[in-house]
Amino acid sequence: MTNIIHRNLRQSPPVAVSASGMIVRDQRCNSYIDASGGAAVSSLGHGHPDILEAMHRQIDINAYAHTAFFTTEVAEELAARLVAGAPEGLTEAYFVSGGSEAMETAMKLARQYFVESGEPQRTKFIARRQSYHGNTLGALAVGGNEWRRRQFAPLLIDVPRVAPCYEYRDRMEGQTQADYTASLLRELEAKIVETGPENVIGFCAEPVVGATGGAIPPTRGYFQGVRALCDKYGVLFIADEVMCGMGRTGTMYSISQDGVAPDIITIGKGLGAGYQPIGGVLAQGRLVDRLRQGSGMFQHGHTYIGHPVAAAAALAVQKVIERDGLLAQVRTRGETFMGMLRNAFGRHPHVGDIRGRGLLLALELVEDRETKQPFAPERKLHAAVKACAMANGLMVYPMGGTIDGQNGDHILLAPPFIASDADLSEIVSRLVESVDGALRQSS
Ligand code: PLP
Repeated sequence: MTNIIHRNLRQSPPVAVSASGMIVRDQRCNSYIDASGGAAVSSLGHGHPDILEAMHRQIDINAYAHTAFFTTEVAEELAARLVAGAPEGLTEAYFVSGGSEAMETAMKLARQYFVESGEPQRTKFIARRQSYHGNTLGALAVGGNEWRRRQFAPLLIDVPRVAPCYEYRDRMEGQTQADYTASLLRELEAKIVETGPENVIGFCAEPVVGATGGAIPPTRGYFQGVRALCDKYGVLFIADEVMCGMGRTGTMYSISQDGVAPDIITIGKGLGAGYQPIGGVLAQGRLVDRLRQGSGMFQHGHTYIGHPVAAAAALAVQKVIERDGLLAQVRTRGETFMGMLRNAFGRHPHVGDIRGRGLLLALELVEDRETKQPFAPERKLHAAVKACAMANGLMVYPMGGTIDGQNGDHILLAPPFIASDADLSEIVSRLVESVDGALRQSS
C-alpha cells in the first residue's frame, strides 16, 4: 500500500531505487533501458557527474533565494546562455518549475503585453486540435488532447482550433505537400479572421508535436507561413518547445530548423534534464520592453521561480551539451536510430508511420497499413506496449489515439543524447519484441 496518489489508482508502479547512464533499476533488481528519457526529459541520462557536482556546489553556496528580493549568478548566466542561442530577438528569459507553468507564464505575458499596448479586447488564443501544452487549467485549455480535457472542459477558457500539421493522416491522395501546407495556412487565416484579428492574443503550437500524436514534424514552410500570418494580423506566435526543445531535435531550439523566430518560446523537460524541476519562457525584447516602459512589472510569479539549484543544474546541462558536442551527436544518432527503426518496422503490418526529428521519434501503430485504420481505442494497445516493454526491461512512452480514436496509438521514443549505437540497437530489438508481444496479447 502507498499513501501517494499514483496515476494508476489500482496498481502502484515499481520503486525506482537507482539509475545511471541509460539504465533505471527498481526494488526487485529489474533494470530498464531508458528509451524515452522518462517523458523526453533525461537528455543526459542518469547520474551525470557534472550535473550532480554543479547542484552540490550550488546547495553549499545558496540553496534558495526568493526572487522578490534577489537574483542569482546561476540564473543570470543560464538566461544569458539560452538567449544567446535562441532565434533572433528572443532576448528575455523567465524561469519557472516546469512546462505547464511555462505555458501559463507565456499566456499571461502575451495578454499583459496587449493590455499595456492599449488592446485589452485581445482575449483569444488559437491552437491546434492535436496538441498538448500542459495540465494546469490555462495550459490544458489551449491544448487539444480531448482525453485529458474532457472532464475539465467546463472550467476551461474557449480556444478556437485549427487542424494540426499531420501529413501522414491528413494529406490527401494526390495532394502535394505544398498544397497541403497551403490548405492548413488558409484554415488558420480563416480562423483568425472569424475570431476577429483584433481579439486574438496568440497562436500556440508545438514545433514538433510530442505526446499528443507522437513526434510529428511540420511540413516544409508551414511555420514560415504561420509566422507570416501572425505578422499580418498582429498576432503573437507562441512556440511550445517544452518537449522538442533543448537539443532534443538536434538544435537547441527545434523551430530554428524551420527558419522562424517566434515571439515567445516555452521550454522545460530537457532544460533541467530531470536533475531539477525547471521550465522557462523566452520572449522577444519588444514585448518585455512594453511592460518595462508601461507598468514596470510583470504581473506574475511563483514561490520557486528562478530557483538557484534548478538554475545550476540547467546551466550545467547546457555546458555539457556544448562541451561534448551533443547537438551534432543527436543529429547523427537520430539518423542512425531512424534507420534502425525503418529496418525493423518498415514492413511491419501494424506500423503505419515512423517519423520525428533528431532523437524525438515515434511509431504510429495501425490496424491496417493500407487504409491507416487505427486500432479500436478500447483495445488500449498503447498500454499493452508499455507493459510488454517494461517486462522486457525497456522504457518507452506510448499514448493512445488522442483525438477520439481518429489517430492511431503511437510509441514515443526519446533516448538520452548519450545513447551509443549499441544502446539504440538494443532498444530496437527489445521494442520489436514488445510491439509484437502487445499485439499478440491484446488481440
Ligand atoms: N508542453 C508540452 C509540449 C509538453 O509535452 C508538456 C509535457 O509533456 C508540457 C507542455 C507540460 O509540461 P509539464 O508536464 O512539465 O508541466
